[in-house]
Amino acid sequence: MQKISVIGAGTMGNGIAHVFAQKGFTVNLIDTSAAQLEKALKTIATNLDRQVTKGLLTEEEKKGVLQRITTFGSIPEGVAKADLAVEAATENTEIKLSIFRQLDEAAPAGCILASNTSSISISRIGAVTRRPAAVIGLHFMNPVPVMKLIEIINGYATDAEVTRQMVALAEKLGKTPCVVNDYPGFIANRILMPMINEAVYSLYEGVAIVNDIDTIMKLGMAHPMGPLQLADFIGLDVCLSILRVLQDGFGQPKYAPCPLLVNMVTAGFLGVKSGEGFYRYTPGSKELVVSTRFTGSAGL
Ligand code: NAD
Repeated sequence: MQKISVIGAGTMGNGIAHVFAQKGFTVNLIDTSAAQLEKALKTIATNLDRQVTKGLLTEEEKKGVLQRITTFGSIPEGVAKADLAVEAATENTEIKLSIFRQLDEAAPAGCILASNTSSISISRIGAVTRRPAAVIGLHFMNPVPVMKLIEIINGYATDAEVTRQMVALAEKLGKTPCVVNDYPGFIANRILMPMINEAVYSLYEGVAIVNDIDTIMKLGMAHPMGPLQLADFIGLDVCLSILRVLQDGFGQPKYAPCPLLVNMVTAGFLGVKSGEGFYRYTPGSKELVVSTRFTGSAGL
């Protein structure tokens, strides 16, 4: 396995391209947006510079990594010779199903098709291809160059040999693979999202203020980030959509998203990406400032 195609050059796609190229793989990075491809290459270069500054990489090695990445604007061209395609496009079922139909059409017969989806069923994605046995979930964590885990998701039809190959590949990337089966939220989000939702409920019901909820989980459970800050980082819209997947998939009220979370997303308060969620974010500042909506008269 040498030639990797990465579809989607956003937050996750650029990180996935980075780690494969750093381990010597040839990477074709594909996106429908030329601006995203350009931005991804800049982000990868900046992240490599940071590794050079820390003495983890030489300037020569950095050049080699960048030379191994080629960008493409269309799927057929970018996957024609791929051994593995890793899809990291927008988390939208219709977009992903359409991409997998195209991948199935254009990728060589032996090419494994993987998705980095956070919540969409791998079995469903596999079912739109003529090779469901070769379709698998490779759930990288954000930021990809830093985070060690890859959650590997077996679709209902995924071949055990494909899983074995992906486990070996994850290890080659220096990551730790964990294999799980294809049920809503897999493992990471099935456990994480109810915790975040419970933190939002605790705020909504006035049990504690933002800072204290996060501090309790940071100091009490040794979490590097509190659940409300983490929700802001992930994106409140993303959290809401994963909770809906859990709610629909299991049909149990315990997954119902907190009305406060729904309100915040409806109003466009999405966390870091929109500038405000549970905290307020000022570009260039690392200070964590609680949103005034939770400190004024409307709060505790
Ligand atoms: P993003 O919005 O940053 O990037 C998505 C990219 O996909 C964009 O550049 C967009 O132009 C591109 N795209 C859309 N349609 C396309 C198409 N038809 N062909 C090619 N490119 C297309 O999203 P992201 O945060 O990088 O998430 C990507 C995937 O990774 C999602 O499935 C998401 O659930 C998953 N994921 C995200 C995170 C995270 O923390 N952001 C963590 C784990 C998994």
